[in-house]
Amino acid sequence: MSPIKKVFDLIVIGGGSGGLATARRAASYGAKVVLIEKDHRLGGTCVNVGCVPKKVMFNASYVRETLKDAKYYGMGVDQLPKVDWAALKSHRDAYVHRLNGIYVNNLNKDHVEFIFGHASFVSPTVVKVNDEQLEAKKILVAAGGHPIWPKVPGVELGIDSDGFFDLPTQPRKVAVVGSGYIGIELANIFQGLGSETTVFIRTDQILRHFDPFVSDTLMPEMRKLGIKFATHSSVKGLKKTEGKDYPLTLQYDTRDEGQNLEAEFDCVLWAVGRAPNTTDLNLEAAGVLTNEKGFVVVDEFQNTSVESIYALGDICGREELTPVAIAAGRLLANRLFGGPQFAQNKMDYDNVPTVIFSHPPTGSIGISEADARARYGDDQVKVYATSFTAMFNALTEHKPPTKFKLIVAGPEEKVVGLHIIGRGVDEMLQGFGVAIKMGATKQDFDSCVAIHPTSSEELVTLK
Ligand SMILES: Cc1cc2nc3c(=O)[nH]c(=O)nc-3n(C[C@H](O)[C@H](O)[C@H](O)COP(=O)(O)OP(=O)(O)OC[C@H]3O[C@@H](n4cnc5c(N)ncnc54)[C@H](O)[C@@H]3O)c2cc1C
Repeated sequence: MSPIKKVFDLIVIGGGSGGLATARRAASYGAKVVLIEKDHRLGGTCVNVGCVPKKVMFNASYVRETLKDAKYYGMGVDQLPKVDWAALKSHRDAYVHRLNGIYVNNLNKDHVEFIFGHASFVSPTVVKVNDEQLEAKKILVAAGGHPIWPKVPGVELGIDSDGFFDLPTQPRKVAVVGSGYIGIELANIFQGLGSETTVFIRTDQILRHFDPFVSDTLMPEMRKLGIKFATHSSVKGLKKTEGKDYPLTLQYDTRDEGQNLEAEFDCVLWAVGRAPNTTDLNLEAAGVLTNEKGFVVVDEFQNTSVESIYALGDICGREELTPVAIAAGRLLANRLFGGPQFAQNKMDYDNVPTVIFSHPPTGSIGISEADARARYGDDQVKVYATSFTAMFNALTEHKPPTKFKLIVAGPEEKVVGLHIIGRGVDEMLQGFGVAIKMGATKQDFDSCVAIHPTSSEELVTLK
């Protein structure tokens, strides 16, 4: 091991959403920053195997869904086109590659040094990368997470969400095991693009971290689109038989249909959760504490258990979303390098808006009805809800649901939760998020004149 060569104000471990945002903001204050990324491309999960390529695939499947409706607008296509998966993948990969390059340019422009290699702690102030040792007064751990695989025989025959983006051809018959937002989004994409899709879930509800309204609305709609559900199921194993049309046999039990069942697929995707990338950072050498699930323990200011070591983003396991990692990173950099006026800068994890790119999309901010009732008391909570057909579908045969649920609390009817499903809600939630973050009441919603004719006008005319 070479002696310590370089000393920095800040070492950032991880070139994903949180690490890049922190590094650039810190450098803008004149800090000498180095960022280390093990993946040999910048951008992290979001850019390479998350939000960005996922949204491209969502768009693709939405285009195909919309083609089904074109005939009602006088532009009928005789037959839905088969997806040219290779072309779609190559356009998508090229876009991601362009973004990787933009991140390199941004770091160069902002005078952030970066090193491709695997970082691990040598001591609380020294990090090792590619046989080089770097020292800094402050170190940020923003190393993200990775998909978990279930412990069943033959698991390696399946893929995870990372593998989804590597698929060279479109599978014809897919099993998605898991019903969190990643599983549900990918199942909708597969089905939308024409792959026959079954979702294996442990209960009879999907997206259980959201208000049950979401599952109750989305599951029947997904069924209408042709997605099958194996409810109350537990997967036992996976085996491969070469030469068969659908070579992967998934073995499973269900409470509803019986034990020792088998179903054949040509792709099985595990979407059973994610775990933090804490195991190979040698956190012990620095004394950084993790919790029982391996997530780095931080306080509200992103301080770890060791002074001058900080952590944020997915590795901390709270609100695992790109804009959350970015916001936490910028606030931390302000606090550490921006001067005394930023001494109290910290991330506000309340009222973080989020969207599930399902078909139709789902948006959610604030708390569920059950949480509102538990927090404020039954007599203090009121729910306003509406269900209707979006005007786009007035002409079409298939009428996906549009449903809104507004949860208010207290005599002033402060909005504490908003859960919306329907065409276009992915672009609708951000503005309402601003209002809710500012403490909007039902009266504030009502006082805003509706934009007609839109779906969102229903949110300011709720009875
Ligand atoms: C399929 C999928 C879809 C998603 N869709 C959305 C979405 O629509 N909207 C949204 O907001 N969020 C979405 N997310 C979540 C989002 O991608 C993450 O919340 C976000 O990327 C977290 O940022 P981060 O900086 O904490 O970690 P990451 O972006 O994962 O970055 C961590 C980086 O650290 C690197 N690293 C790890 N260990 C080391 C080491 N020892 N040395 C050097 N480098 C290391 C990794 O290679 C990685 O590049 C999605 C995630 C997935 C998987």
